[in-house]
Amino acid sequence: MDRKLKKEKLVIIFLGPQGSGKGTQAELLGKKLHMPVIEMGKLLRQASQINSVKGRKIKKIINEGKLLPLSETIDILKNEINKINLQKGFILDGFPRNLDQAKKIEKFKNKIVIYLSLSEKETLKRLGKRKTCSKCGKVFIDKRSLIKCSVCNGKLEQREDDKPSTIKKRLNLFRKSTKPVLEYYQKKNELININGEQSIDNVFKEILKKLGIGK
Ligand code: AMP
Repeated sequence: MDRKLKKEKLVIIFLGPQGSGKGTQAELLGKKLHMPVIEMGKLLRQASQINSVKGRKIKKIINEGKLLPLSETIDILKNEINKINLQKGFILDGFPRNLDQAKKIEKFKNKIVIYLSLSEKETLKRLGKRKTCSKCGKVFIDKRSLIKCSVCNGKLEQREDDKPSTIKKRLNLFRKSTKPVLEYYQKKNELININGEQSIDNVFKEILKKLGIGK
């Protein structure tokens, strides 16, 4: 087992392009290790639903496929971290997305960064088929006939920012901002590379294997 898993205040970070399965794998690993998952995109989408000037501003930024400003993102993240038992640590999905954000969590010394790689072609294919529950945020891929969420019965829809023109913008942003984050963690020897093109099960198996955990 990776020695970092035994230490306290472990932070596991999932990085990868849109549709690489970060959310799904973060949830699976969270259950396996009994660690809470902080899903940045979901938190921000929740904040965007609030009918206020701030809520409307966040909604506009998300729908345009841009990143929320640093200070606002950090406020929302800190607020969530405060709700968590820090001894155990937590899993981060969708944060950090650029170097400025990465530097904000440097105080957490015990980190494992998992990168799920996915080609641009596969990303576009997956997101074109992705439906999200408007109520609980659960993601469904390739379930064309499904109209209601199997968890909470909420309505399934295509996210505004999953439409083709916005996806291209988000992918460009990923390439420009998140790739330097990968290099940053690679240099610090904190990065684990995983092939995200495999089935959900096989991706999870590869993660467990590279972390040295039996299934
Ligand atoms: P996601 O569901 O992770 O693809 O996130 C959806 C949207 O939320 C992104 O396209 C951004 O507009 C916003 N967002 C998510 N994470 C961050 C972050 N770390 N920093 C700034 N904006 C973010």
